[in-house]
Amino acid sequence: MKCIYLDYNATTPLDPRVFEAMAPYFMEKFGNPSSSSHSYGWDAESAVCEARKKVADLIGAKPTEIVFTAGSTEANNWVISELTRRFRLAGEKAHFITSVIEHPSVLAPMKRAEEDGVAVTYLPINSEGRIELTDLKAALRPETKLVSLMAANNELGSLNPMAEIGALCHDHKIYFHSDATQWIGKLPLNVDDLKIDLLSVSGHKLYGPKGVGALYIRSQNPKVDLPASIVGGGQERGRRSGTLNVPGIVGLGEAAKIAVESMAAEAAQLQNLKTYFLSELEKAKIRFRVNGSLEHSLPNTLNITFFDLKPEHIQTRMAKLAVSSTSACHSGGAGTSPVLAALGLTSEEAKSSLRISFGRGCNQEQLKAASDTLISALNHSGNATPSSFL
Ligand code: PMP
Repeated sequence: MKCIYLDYNATTPLDPRVFEAMAPYFMEKFGNPSSSSHSYGWDAESAVCEARKKVADLIGAKPTEIVFTAGSTEANNWVISELTRRFRLAGEKAHFITSVIEHPSVLAPMKRAEEDGVAVTYLPINSEGRIELTDLKAALRPETKLVSLMAANNELGSLNPMAEIGALCHDHKIYFHSDATQWIGKLPLNVDDLKIDLLSVSGHKLYGPKGVGALYIRSQNPKVDLPASIVGGGQERGRRSGTLNVPGIVGLGEAAKIAVESMAAEAAQLQNLKTYFLSELEKAKIRFRVNGSLEHSLPNTLNITFFDLKPEHIQTRMAKLAVSSTSACHSGGAGTSPVLAALGLTSEEAKSSLRISFGRGCNQEQLKAASDTLISALNHSGNATPSSFL
């Protein structure tokens, strides 16, 4: 029986147009972009250059401000670890601000930064799964050097007030880094409008390949002084050494270009599917509650507690549905999702919660089949009650 894939926040399938763009760079155009003395190198270099421009265009940056990485995990680690090293070497007192619902690729380097002498404040979230600006203002200190807050949360889809955070950081001359892994490709974003100084992107969340991403590093107003991540051959203008992953980079570029062209229509379509899915649950009088915000939320993401869902039924009665019972990065771990815990859910509620994330290629027919499967699984627990907690 074919599974219905509703886990686009974990990863997206490669867009066939992206695959087509990448294909020549595995075989006939295999050159190293650093080979400056022949056409194999020039072809590769020119493809990387084009891809860099496409990624820059997606976020309103200059191509020189884009450094290719292996994904957001690397980009997030780079920002936090290298700023920590910079301040430590300069003997400067440093304070960083982040939130309790960041991805582990932000939280783990923040823990290391604390071990290295940086003071770190972890902001709480409100009932919508967003940070409160008043909490951010209250946390500021004279020695605050970095605010790292995600644009959109991977489990809830909740959106942070990015423009307000950016303006506050800019006024206080504090670097603003955002892990925008889940936002990019789903909603428009301009780094100048939002006053973002550093931004992490991952290819496989926007129908590009896995294992490739980018870090945006602002070059002006202010110029971010971020030491190199990996040192060696000096690629990426000395900022990130290592032979470039040309097919991956070409794929990321193509995915970015497609996102620019199709984002608006796709966001509207996904929002409609989300509304449709919720209406099917309501019609069936399922007892549920949406976690986080419906208003300030990614168009493709729903995180729902089903009060009659027994965790053991997720594997058995819902095997046809590829959804996440917590973020992919936590699945396999036995504990409660820290994000749902931060939102105030009990461990029982968290275990009865599902993240359902839609994407390109999803249609109403699939969502009807998915909601029918879910409703049938819930009704067969013999507990359905005629009320909704939406
Ligand atoms: N940040 C967020 C919000 C994510 O959802 C993910 C992927 N789950 C990452 C960072 C890490 O991305 P990658 O594994 O591609 O490096």
